[in-house]
Amino acid sequence: MSTRGTVARKTDEGFTGVYHHFDAYPSGLGRELWGQYFTNYESDLETMQKGLIDDHPAGWSTIDGDSGRCYCHSRTPESPAVLTQENARSYGSEYVYLLEDSALVILSPSHSKWLELARIPWDGNEPDWDQWDS
Ligand SMILES: [Zn+2]
Repeated sequence: MSTRGTVARKTDEGFTGVYHHFDAYPSGLGRELWGQYFTNYESDLETMQKGLIDDHPAGWSTIDGDSGRCYCHSRTPESPAVLTQENARSYGSEYVYLLEDSALVILSPSHSKWLELARIPWDGNEPDWDQWDS
């Protein structure tokens, strides 16, 4: 199922990040981001932001898997696309995941705004991801 989303960092105006195509609901992409923070990135947020946002400017089919599948390092690379609070909806994003210093923050759209659906501290317990799936 292609629930689309955005992996982003917070800005003063909202957020900036990259597209993610598959399974971007909390029990999919949210759970995967949470896991990768502790395993692939060993709780190093800056390396995670670089590895998931800066190094793959055309975004992701999925970050799941050994190295994930992006749209920029494929045989037919796509152009970079910067997703923000202004255009993420036009890319079909139903969820935005902010990689913040202290927490993984999930946003969901409401009319023309992005509202905070959940704020999950990195130093807390892993939540029940299914509670946010719609
Ligand atoms: Zn790439």
